[in-house]
Amino acid sequence: MGPISERLQAVLARVAQAARAAGRDPQSVRLVAVSKAQPAAAMRKAHAAGQSVFGENYVQEALAKMAELGDLDLEWHFIGPIQSNKTRPIAENFRWVHGIDRLKIAQRLNDARPASLPPLDVCIEVNISQEASKSGVAPQELPALAAAVAALPRLRLRGLMAIPAPTHDATRQREAFARLRGLQERLRAGGMALDTLSMGMSHDFETAIAEGATLVRIGTAIFGPRAPGRPC
Ligand SMILES: *Cc1c(COP(=O)(O)O)cnc(C)c1O
Repeated sequence: MGPISERLQAVLARVAQAARAAGRDPQSVRLVAVSKAQPAAAMRKAHAAGQSVFGENYVQEALAKMAELGDLDLEWHFIGPIQSNKTRPIAENFRWVHGIDRLKIAQRLNDARPASLPPLDVCIEVNISQEASKSGVAPQELPALAAAVAALPRLRLRGLMAIPAPTHDATRQREAFARLRGLQERLRAGGMALDTLSMGMSHDFETAIAEGATLVRIGTAIFGPRAPGRPC
């Protein structure tokens, strides 16, 4: 076994352990392996070790790797910021999009989603730490955006996503994840059939699982450090 396989197995074991510690079924947490800035060869190794769900942040990079890995049956998630001039390749090539934070982007993805594919699974990104500099819709604007996105026929609104401000304060970290869960519960109480809480990265996924994450996005803990010269 190579290091990617070993780290993947270690991450899966930690995910399962965090779920059990929270009284949850380990199967209720999906792992998205974040492969941005990693070569296709590394993804091939992860696939050989059993991983078929991958997250990418950059459209051009992802399209190149999709071509290189076309012989594998992979599920691709777009998790990066979405520029409006990139909505067509995203809608045509990905299964999931996590970072929807305005209606215009959702409409463009809806319009570009090919009829031959199932509706695009999407999450709305919420600015849970309330920083002006961060992406994501403000919590008070979430209900209106969720209702508008849910009405788009070529999208399927699955839930919410957040990237809390980095903090070493475990209590604050946990509060941020709990806030996202609370927002999701409110939408569900209002009748929305949401099943996904996309939260938790390499440094905080166990806390996210304790607060109800159903999908964790983990990169460096599986693949090691990313190639330098990338913005995130
Ligand atoms: C890069 C990235 C991740 C993975 O981060 P790691 O710290 O490498 O686990 C998860 N989610 C998003 C949105 C990212 O951009």
